[in-house]
Amino acid sequence: MSSPQIITIDLNFFGYPGAIASYLIRLPHQAVLIEPGPSTTIPALQKALTDCGISLSDVKDVFITHIHLDHAGSVGWLARQGATIHVHPKGAPHLVNPEKLIQSASRIYGELMDTLWGEIKPVPEDHLHIPEDNEILSIDGHKFQVLDTPGHANHHYTVLFEGTLFAGDIGGIRIGDTKHIELPTPPPEFDPLKWRASLRRLQELELCAIAPTHFGVYSDVEYHLNQLLIKLDLLEEWLEQQMLSNPSLEELTEALRHWLDQQGRNQLPQAYQPYFTYLNPTWMSASGLYRYWHKVRQA
Ligand SMILES: [Zn+2]
Repeated sequence: MSSPQIITIDLNFFGYPGAIASYLIRLPHQAVLIEPGPSTTIPALQKALTDCGISLSDVKDVFITHIHLDHAGSVGWLARQGATIHVHPKGAPHLVNPEKLIQSASRIYGELMDTLWGEIKPVPEDHLHIPEDNEILSIDGHKFQVLDTPGHANHHYTVLFEGTLFAGDIGGIRIGDTKHIELPTPPPEFDPLKWRASLRRLQELELCAIAPTHFGVYSDVEYHLNQLLIKLDLLEEWLEQQMLSNPSLEELTEALRHWLDQQGRNQLPQAYQPYFTYLNPTWMSASGLYRYWHKVRQA
């Protein structure tokens, strides 16, 4: 039996190609989606499915790596179409009752909240499945394994399917065919120690490809995972240096902006610069670092 094809759907978030991916796996009797994306790109998702000859009722299983809205905002809607949503145990309560998720995202995104993420519908409990760490799910004769991989968020799974690892945000942000990789470090759960341990765990796997949600399927797995570890080391060293002078959040944000440019962000083609405004806003990553330092490192 040949392997099912993995189809990368470009959700074309706000007209930016290659920013947010949804991965479609066509099985003999159904389809699986990994990372269905935000509510605002549901029309793009529907169109892509139609173009592939897949109807919504074929999508019986949906995996999300974590509940951040750019990955999972549309799951309430998909559950209402009949799909079962597979989610980390720490994320599940926030899908059933999304009020807190909406509140905390609104604090971060302010008046852009609705424009960016649209309506967040709750997932009916009977459409949720909460696998355990390492659990292997058999779906239409094919195996999908979830692995607990905290560091970006405590509610983060990666999904392994036939040697391809759907890495969510623990896999960083790698845009286009560049080799440039960044770490999204949002509050409140960014933790470099947990992130490093997760990456070490992933290095133990036999992988033929790694697919971060931002964006695409890469076969240079060893390079990609090594880069993430190097970036974590550099970021931690930089943060330790910065915090010696006890900067305010505003000062840390400015310093981070400068440092990220030095790390290669400003050498990327101009067309990619707006991606970071949405996918890894500097103020958000700075506030994750700031919180980690004061609430975890100093505690
Ligand atoms: Zn995230």
